[in-house]
Order: sequence, then C-alpha cells, then structure tokens
Amino acid sequence: VIPLRAAALLAVIAIGILPVPGGPRKPFSDATAAHHEPPDRAIDAIHLHLDLSFDASRKWVGGEATLTLTPFAAPLDTVALDAEDLRIREVREGASRREFRVAGGRLLVDLGRAVPPGEEIVLAVSYEANPRRGLYFVGPDRGYPAKPVMVYSQGQTDQSRAWFPCVDSPNERMTWEQSYTVPVPFTAVGNGRLVEVKSPPGGRSRTFRWMQEIPAPAYLVSVAIAEYDVIREEHRGVPIEYYVPRGTPKETALRSFGLTPDMMEFFSSWIGVAYPYPRYAQTTIVDFLHGGMENLGATTQTYDTLHPAEVDREASSVGLVAHELAHQWWGDLLTCRDWAHAWLNEGFATYFENLYKERRLGADEFQYEMFRDAEAYFEEDEKEYRRPIVQEVFTHPDDLFDSHLYPKGGWTLHMLRGILGDDLFRESLQAYAQTHRAGSVVTEDLRKSVEETTGRSLEWFFRQWYLRGGHPEIRITQDWDAASRLVRLRVEQTQATDALTPVFRAPVRIAFHGDAGVWEFPVELADAAEEFAFPLPEAPRMTRFDAGYHLLKKLEFPRTAAELTVQLREDPDVPGRIWAAEQLATRVRDGGAASALAVALSKEPFWGVRAEIARSLRKLRLAESRDALIAARGDSDTRVRAAAIASLGSFREDPKAADAIRRAWREEKNDYVRAAAAKAFASARASGALSLLREALATPSHRDVIAVAASEGMEDLGDPAAVPALRDAARYGRPRRQREAAIRALGKLAKGDAKRPILDLLLDLLHDPWIFARDAAIQALGDARDDTAVPALADAARGETDARLRRHARQAIEAIRSAGSATELEELRRRIEQMEDSTRGLRERIERLEREKGSPPP
Ligand SMILES: [Zn+2]
Repeated sequence: VIPLRAAALLAVIAIGILPVPGGPRKPFSDATAAHHEPPDRAIDAIHLHLDLSFDASRKWVGGEATLTLTPFAAPLDTVALDAEDLRIREVREGASRREFRVAGGRLLVDLGRAVPPGEEIVLAVSYEANPRRGLYFVGPDRGYPAKPVMVYSQGQTDQSRAWFPCVDSPNERMTWEQSYTVPVPFTAVGNGRLVEVKSPPGGRSRTFRWMQEIPAPAYLVSVAIAEYDVIREEHRGVPIEYYVPRGTPKETALRSFGLTPDMMEFFSSWIGVAYPYPRYAQTTIVDFLHGGMENLGATTQTYDTLHPAEVDREASSVGLVAHELAHQWWGDLLTCRDWAHAWLNEGFATYFENLYKERRLGADEFQYEMFRDAEAYFEEDEKEYRRPIVQEVFTHPDDLFDSHLYPKGGWTLHMLRGILGDDLFRESLQAYAQTHRAGSVVTEDLRKSVEETTGRSLEWFFRQWYLRGGHPEIRITQDWDAASRLVRLRVEQTQATDALTPVFRAPVRIAFHGDAGVWEFPVELADAAEEFAFPLPEAPRMTRFDAGYHLLKKLEFPRTAAELTVQLREDPDVPGRIWAAEQLATRVRDGGAASALAVALSKEPFWGVRAEIARSLRKLRLAESRDALIAARGDSDTRVRAAAIASLGSFREDPKAADAIRRAWREEKNDYVRAAAAKAFASARASGALSLLREALATPSHRDVIAVAASEGMEDLGDPAAVPALRDAARYGRPRRQREAAIRALGKLAKGDAKRPILDLLLDLLHDPWIFARDAAIQALGDARDDTAVPALADAARGETDARLRRHARQAIEAIRSAGSATELEELRRRIEQMEDSTRGLRERIERLEREKGSPPP
C-alpha cells in the first residue's frame, strides 16, 4: 500500500511542476491582425431600394439596387460603394448611364461632375451574382435528398456587400425598401412592413414588397426565402410572425416562439422605448450558420431551435428568442459605431436575455445564468487569450464575437447594476436608449448617459472593464477576535498585473450570518492587499464575500468543512452554494464533505445547484459520493440526472458505477441523459464500452446529441478499433452534428497505423460541401499535429470565405508548428498521466478492499 501511494503522490507532484498544456495563454491577435478604425463617412447613405429575383437552383441573385446618397461634408465626383463579387451590368443616374469600375471589392461610380453635400444622388445599379457569402442557398442533394429549399442572407459583420452594393459599415444608416421576386409557393421575408404581394400574369412567381422606414445599417438588411407556414400573434398592435417550414405543428412553433409577446412587453417597458418597428418576424432556416441573427424587425433563427416537448428543459428557445429580440433595441436601434465596440450589441443582448429570465423564471435561474456566463468567460480567458472588451486590433471583425464580447460584456452591465442599484441602472440605460435611438454608439456614450443620469463619476469603471483585461482573483483570510468582537478580513488581489491586467477597484458587499441575525457591509476594494474589520455581536457562522453576486471574480477563501456545509445549505445566492459545493469536493480526506454533498444533492431545491453538486462529486472518488450520484438517478430533473450520470463516469473500473450508467443508457427516455450515459460509460472504462458506443453512434436523437456523445466517448477511449465506425459516421449524408463530432474524434485518434489514412480523410474533408465539416477537419488536422497538413491548412486560411474557419486554420497551423518543440514534453506528460491513472485505479481498489475488511479509509 505505501509504495503505491507514494508513487501516486510522485506522479501528482511531477505534473504540478510541468508547465500548463499549451503554455501561457496565447495573444488574441496574431501576425495577421491590424488596427481598425471606423471608415471616413464620405457619403451619407439615405435610402436603398432592392429589386431582386432569386434562383435557388443556380444559387443566383440578380436585379437592381437603387441607392439615394449625398456627399457627407465635401463635394464628390466619384462614389465608392462596397461590392464584392457582383457582376455589374450598368449604373444609371436618372436616365443617364454613368461610367464605373470595380476594384478591390469596391464599385467606383464616376458622377461626371462635382456634387455638393446636400444634393441627392440616385444611382441605379443593375447586377447579378452567385454569392460566395452574404447570401446562402440550402437545398436537397445526393447526400440529403429531403432537405428543403431555402435562401437566406447573413449581413453581419461585412457580408451584405456580397449580395448588394452598399455602404457596408455599421456607422452608416439608411432606410430601405425591398422587392423580392420568388417562384410560387415560396415566401420572401424582408424587413419592416409588407406593402404588397404582387403576382405577375402567368402566376409562376410572386413579388413581396417590404418597406423599412427607420434608418439602420446595411448589415441588418435581410431576406429569408422558403415554403413557410406563418403563425401570427400580436402585441399592442405590433404584428408578430413565426415562419416555420411548411407542415411544422403549430404547438412546436409556439413552444419555441410563444413567449415573444411577453418578452416584447418586458423589454419595451424596461427600456422605456416601445418596440420600435412596425412588425416583428422570426424566420427559421435549416443549416443556418448561426444560432440567430437580429435582422431588423425580422430575426433569422436556426431551424434547430424547434424541439419536441420532451427536451424542452435542455433545448429551450427562451434564451435565443430573448437575445435576438433584445437586439432589436441593442444593436439595431442603437448600433455600435464600429466592431471594436460590438459588446454594446452583444453584451447588452446577453444581459437582457438574462434579465428576461430573471423576470420570467426567477432569481435562482438568473444567478445560475450569470454563473454560467462567468464560467464561459473564465474558460476562454484561461485556455485561449485575454483581451480588453473594446478591442481595435484584430484580423477580421468576426473574430471579436467571443466570450469576452458576450458573457463578459453582459457581466459588466451586471456589475454596473450592482454599483448603481436597480433603479438608477435602469434609468441610466433608458436615458442611453432615448438619447441614441436610431444612432451609432461607442462605449463612451454609455458612460456619459450613466454619469448624466446618476451623477456618479465612472471613468475608473469604464477604463478597467472595457479598456483593460482580466478580472480580480481574490484571496481572503478571516479572523474572529472574540475580545474586541471584530471580524477581520484580509483581502488580496492575487492576479498577476501588467499592462493589460490591473488591480481592480471593486465595490462589493460582505454579509456575515450568525445565530442572531445577518450583518451586511458594503466595501470597496482598491488595492492589491487590504484589511477590513467589522464589528459583530457574535462570531459569524457564514461569511458571504460578494453577497448578491455582483462581481466577476475568482475566489480563494479557506473555510472549514463545517462552514462550507452551512454555506451549501443556507447561502441565499445560487453561486455561493455552488462555490461551497466545489470547495467541499476538494476535501478528499474529510469524511464529512461527501456526506454533506450527498445530503445537499437530495435536498437542494434548485436544479442548477443540484447539477453542480453532482458535477463536484466526481472529484471525491469515495463510495459515498458514488452512491449519492447513483441515488440522483431518481432526481425529477433530467439535467440533474445527466450531470450525475456524467460524474459516475469518473469512477473507473467500479462495477456499481458501471451498472448504474448502463441502466441509465437502457432505461432513460430523455436523449440528453442517454447521451451523458454513453459518454460516461466510456470514461468509466466499463467493459463492453466500445460496443455500447457503436450502438449509441447509430442512435438517432435530438440534435444528434447521442451520436455526438458516442464520438466523444470513442475519442476518450482512444481505441483505434473505433476508427471504422467513426469514418462511417463522418460520411457525407450522415446527420451534420454526428459528422462534425466524428471528424473531431478522428483527429484525436490519428496515431500509429491509423494516422496516415485518417490524415488523408481529413485532407479530403477540407473540400466537403458542409462548412462545419470543413471546420471540424481543420481543427482535427491541428490536433493530429502532422506537418504534412500545413500546405492544405494554409490554403484554408487564405481561401475559406468564413472568417471563423480562416482563424481556426491559422490556429491549427500554429498548433502543428509549436508541436514540434513540445513533443517530448507532451510525451512525458502523457506517460505521467498514464501512470497516475493506473495508480489511481489501484488505490481505489485497495481502498475498496480495506473498507470491505472494515478498516478505516486511508
Ligand atoms: Zn447577439
């Protein structure tokens, strides 16, 4: 026993001194990045009229774009418009043709005279295009014969220019009118209000004419074309429409979109600006490349958000629908001037999505959303990069749409709310909305609105949260001085500070709970190390640093198991209870920790905390925690059951755990719980894992969650015997998410004899018709770490039209290049991890034996 334990200890120490995998976080910007500023406004765009026809079979669009413009401040003799891959036939001004040329993604029109500011120019541009981006065509093919025909646009960030000529910059606003001609029985959905539907003689096509009369940027111009059924609702006279593929049951549409009127009421009254457009539509698109896009008054949503009732908890549309509706104010009515300030769109939409959940689902759900948003940001900050939220140096604006922009952006609003209080926070944002409606904004505009509303001086807040990076990492030590009845807190900010990461100024509330009451104190952190003393009538049973949960932070606060148990039971804040559970789960040697967690897992009223307790329990590999997880199979909430099953996967070679997982796989009806079971079966290294995973890989499920889990399980097993099944799952014609997961798993299994054939398959997949199969292949090639893939990846980094794929290709090349030097270290790490795995298994077996013999656990 003793030598084995010593070996385990050595392995842990050895891992402790190796650098973190991948070394320190990478910089956000690579060598391809450049400083971006908004373009000069030489032209003031006033109005656009698109008169277009669409042919899905030829992936073609053509017709006329008529732009009304005026020189902004200085006379112009040439007009430059953004136009990418458009075949321009003719440009007319009134009855006169104008000379033009196309160069560098721009259409340059010679006006033949110097036009002074204020004089309107009306240019009619005839053109056609087979767009490579901006306008997307979905339809059946050999692999997917049942796919419906759909055409949709995606303007954000810089793609509108790829389907019509325009001033394609978020700081330029115009009104627009759209005449979209499509074959019967297709519907063409545009922005604003429907003026008319015209059927020309012959009745083979129809023209939908839409009018959009509130100035907004070109990236919000949209079209969605499909054979749609429409469900109509209404809110205070505003028509609300849900466009779903023909034949979709009405209750399915309402399950996803039915709360839209309630959300509209909530946002209108909260923001103090009524929903600003004459109508609100949500269209659904198959194979949409995003979750949702807040096109003006006509959001485009992924078809995948429609879901059956059985998975409503896991696949709820509430967040998505609220997010896109919130954008109708934050993004569409007030638009970031340039993408460096895109958090004013995305951080706001993210936070308002959570505010709606707070109103609709309660404080616990709200705090849990904030907790998960914080985790998403921490993950990116730790594993990827750290950057300021306002970021002017980047390669492509799409690169900014990350977890610093969305969850961290949202969190800064939550912190502002904590500082100002609910009322002043709301009044400030109302003032900001009213002042800047139908306008462009930068972060300074928000600061001014808040300062003018509240009288508070907030330069420091805006500087530290938007222009600098990171977050406070706080270490607290607490002493109770019984003689003077003072509780003393020493608070340190332990984050490494540099040009990017400061010592934070942070107002925070500290609450002490005792037998006789609760005492709460506001304090303001401002230094790297500070001491605070609070008079209390008794020694506190529980200390809540950041009571109310308004500070984005990491917290280190040594507490006894007894104190943590009290907090797990009594902290009114959801994140406080989760934190206590996580801390308890590190007390491997403390017999009381596992039982406290086990009790809380059965008694805790909020599902989110139960799910996190189940997640925490995986760290305590004790029989008691295993049994608590098995008992949680009876939990009423499928999300808790899924978390418990997933944690059981940490009990390797444990027959009881394996049996519970197998029963969950066989007996559960919910796809997400079964997916967790398939993956856990692999991580438990249960006997027969591969055959169960093969069965799972072939099991149809909502959003392919079971097949995806099967691929991840195969990747985890690392058994080359899984390769044929994964190759089959990756074939064109299989469900898309199943393919993407199988491709990613293949990248991880590209070793030994399997390596060359897998690399060849991945290289072929770089030419796959489906963009996310190519994306998965790019990432898999990065994981496979083989330099023969570099030339093909370099082609992808240049040639892919989607900026996300180009970025991934650059990252894959970087990973391969840096792998050369890291190989030996990686090999050492791998061997130590193997050794740790095997000693862990042995130790657990010995502990089990000792317990069965009746001796105390080590
Ligand atoms: Zn958004």
